[in-house]
Order: sequence, then C-alpha cells, then structure tokens
Amino acid sequence: MARISHRREPAGDEIRYVEGGERLKYPVNLVAEAIERDARAAGFPYPLFRVKSGFRSIATQEVLWQRALERYGSAEEADDWVAPPGRSSHHTGGALDFDLGYSINSRNVDRIRATEAYRYLAHELAPKYKLAPYSREPWHWECDAACEDNILRMEGRSERGAATPSTSSTVGKVLLGVSVVGFMGVGGWFLWGKAREEGWWRL
Ligand SMILES: [Zn+2]
Repeated sequence: MARISHRREPAGDEIRYVEGGERLKYPVNLVAEAIERDARAAGFPYPLFRVKSGFRSIATQEVLWQRALERYGSAEEADDWVAPPGRSSHHTGGALDFDLGYSINSRNVDRIRATEAYRYLAHELAPKYKLAPYSREPWHWECDAACEDNILRMEGRSERGAATPSTSSTVGKVLLGVSVVGFMGVGGWFLWGKAREEGWWRL
C-alpha cells in the first residue's frame, strides 16, 4: 500500500487496454478488471469504477502541463494539480484514475470524497487489492510492485512472464509514436476529449 516511487515508462509489450480504452501496465490491468467486477456485484452501475486515466506518456503529460500553465498562470500553481512532465506516476502505467461519478477536476474533490463509490473504494477495494491513495486526488490510486504481486497471486498467475502479448500492444506502440511525433495533434485530440467529457458530466 505504498505509492510508486520510480517513474519508468512500461515497455510496449507490457501495455494492456482496459474497458473504456485506457491503457495500463500488466498486471495492473487485472486490478482494474477485478475492481469493475466487484463494483458491479456490489450494485454500482456502469460507468462507475471505469478507469478514466491510466498510462500517460511523458509526451502527453507535456500537453497537460502546458494547459495547466495557461489555466493557473504559474508553474507553482499548476504544480498543485498537474505533475510536470517526467514526474507523474501515470508514466509508469501503474496509476489509475477511477470514475467515481464526477469529472476529474480540482473542484470536485469534496463531492467525490462524499460518494458511496469513494467509500467503497477506500474501505473495501483498496485494502483488498493493496492500492495506495493520493490524499489530494480521491480518484487517483496507485499499484506498486507489492500490489502487482498481490493480483498475480489472487488470479493464480504466479509469474510476471505469464503475460500473454496482446495485439493491442502494437497499437500502443503506434499511439506512443504518434504522441511523440504529433505533439500538438494529440494535444488537440486530448483537450477535445476532456472538454466533451466535462460538458457531458455537467448535464
Ligand atoms: Zn491520476
């Protein structure tokens, strides 16, 4: 139950897609899948507990950082809400932002903390799957090496080498390449997605 201390990006063949299109490092994707199963069984409807943000490359973080600089005006302020490129735990593929019913936004911290979904996550799921919290962002949880070992044990997959390469890892590599080369193109797509998502949540 500790946060991830390194900032290494996963290898291309370690990347897996989860429900909703986000990417995570194997076997953290198994944690995300198990959590969705548990949540549905406990009566939480879709899309609660879907992963809204998983693996983010350093190149993608650069786009978010520039956006935060524009929004908050200074690096000191922006730093409170967006990690500068190279520092986010999302670079490792082991950090998960969950859908807890409100958009992932600094304005919604108290609202999210008051939800039944958050309480279920904090009191039942996090101890079970050994996820570490980040107190400033109730949607953000991290799966370190001990958490990875835990899910491999729970699923009866004793070795990391048991990972089956998926065809989507090729897609992951292509997307990674595109995000490095097509910096502004990806940024525009990402911001459009965020804007659409936030608008949708306000309805
Ligand atoms: Zn996060």
